[in-house]
Amino acid sequence: MEQFSIKEVYGKMRRDTEKMEWRKLVWSNYGAPKWIFMPYIALHRRLSTKDRMVKWRITNVLTCPMCLLEDEGIDHMFFGCSSNVGIWNRLLAWQVIRITGLDWQGQIQWAIKHMTSKNSTAQVYKMTLAGMIYHL
Ligand SMILES: [Zn+2]
Repeated sequence: MEQFSIKEVYGKMRRDTEKMEWRKLVWSNYGAPKWIFMPYIALHRRLSTKDRMVKWRITNVLTCPMCLLEDEGIDHMFFGCSSNVGIWNRLLAWQVIRITGLDWQGQIQWAIKHMTSKNSTAQVYKMTLAGMIYHL
């Protein structure tokens, strides 16, 4: 690519995920564009979580800043951290969805199975998931 083009990068990202089973969680999402990029990064397990930053020697502190109890990694950050699980559970309750006790992979598999259609329930769920990942 001789010139940087957001449109070309976006198109390449979409093409790169054509065979990913989670692609409909990311690309068929009416959330804010800045939200949608974060699930893409998270589903590739490329978020700058502390466990990765320690490997890059950016920090030597692994402790989760939300609960101060466990090490921060993607599995802990969204569905393992007691503070963040409370936020997610309230967002699910608002949507009248009852799922508990699933880790990151379990939540994503559940979402792929139940929330990849185009109905309004799935659309709200996908926007909420993207917004939650972005803000946390
Ligand atoms: Zn935590």
